[in-house]
Amino acid sequence: MQITTVPSPAHETVLRVHDADIGLTGFIALHSTALGPAAGGLRMRAYDSEAEALTDVLRLSRGMTFKNAAAGLPLGGGKAVIMGDARQKTEAQLRAFANAIDTLGGRYWTAEDMGMAPADLAVMAEVTPYVAGLASGAFASGDPSPVTARGIFQSIRTTARHALGSPVLEGRHVAVQGLGSVGWHLCKLLRAAGADLTVADIDPDRTKWAAQSFGASVVAPDAILGVEADILAPCAIGGVLNADTIPGLKVRAVAGGANNQLATEADGAALHARGILYAPDYVVNAGGIINVATEILRISDRPAFVSEKLAALDATLDAIFTRAAARGVGPDRVADETVAAKMQAPEAA
Ligand code: NAD
Repeated sequence: MQITTVPSPAHETVLRVHDADIGLTGFIALHSTALGPAAGGLRMRAYDSEAEALTDVLRLSRGMTFKNAAAGLPLGGGKAVIMGDARQKTEAQLRAFANAIDTLGGRYWTAEDMGMAPADLAVMAEVTPYVAGLASGAFASGDPSPVTARGIFQSIRTTARHALGSPVLEGRHVAVQGLGSVGWHLCKLLRAAGADLTVADIDPDRTKWAAQSFGASVVAPDAILGVEADILAPCAIGGVLNADTIPGLKVRAVAGGANNQLATEADGAALHARGILYAPDYVVNAGGIINVATEILRISDRPAFVSEKLAALDATLDAIFTRAAARGVGPDRVADETVAAKMQAPEAA
């Protein structure tokens, strides 16, 4: 196996991991360890080129720095990717990649992301201790999605308070895009709070179940972003808030779990110009990494830690909205500045 350093001015360390014999090529990117060991998941995807995989890992690892800092965790930002069809991954690839992670000596902790299952992580954990999100074992934190959904739910309440004048969701209309692990748990919480739901998913079984379970109205996947509602909760894919979709939004606010919802920075400003309150995704969806962090930090009272960090996250979002309103700028801009300040003065994080 060859491990080589890839020069990247904005990142602390970027490694290319390659082993021709077992068909393995991947990257590990440590964006920042200023606040603690870098933490972020491992993604396996059929990238078209190494350049595309590298771009993805650089962007995602930077995003983890922001998310971990916003959540007040003593963790930095990192991410890893393996190139290839996740359905064809081999144990040899997982073991070799785990070996590469191990060479960093704990500067990077990996976890589950797209294309990786708990069983894959279990294989990697046999090779290196720097694997979190395990299903079993000491401090194992399991599926993070319910905690992610809890964080999104409280963010939606806070967003409603700022955008609609009250956090009460009874009778409010929320449009949810994506009914996967996160979207489904979120719908449960929203429905229990009395919200009316309109949902979309590319999987018709999921929308059928949502209609049955939550009395949700169902629209086609390409219609959900144009639904007239109080709040839109994107919980499927990234880049959904862009120059094509923003003009057609008919909501007062956006607060959801998907990563990288804004296609570009300009899209945050475009939402602000339209008077739509945007709850920054990496603040809203940090519940998952908070849950995973209990494993990395070896927290024995996980429920207490999670509750405390989620409450702090809510206070952070509230402060971001308040500051953004006072300055007349979008919350995404204030969120980025808040994180930058935490990076400058780590003890305040
Ligand atoms: P998932 O794969 O379980 O669910 C995604 C759902 O979105 C699936 O049901 C899929 O069919 C649907 N979908 C895909 N494309 C769609 C489209 N164009 N329109 C409508 N539906 C579509 O994933 P998840 O774990 O629920 O994560 C959802 C999002 O939240 C992702 O962006 C993920 O990165 C982010 N996120 C997840 C967690 C977590 O704890 N799982 C934490 C932080 C962020």
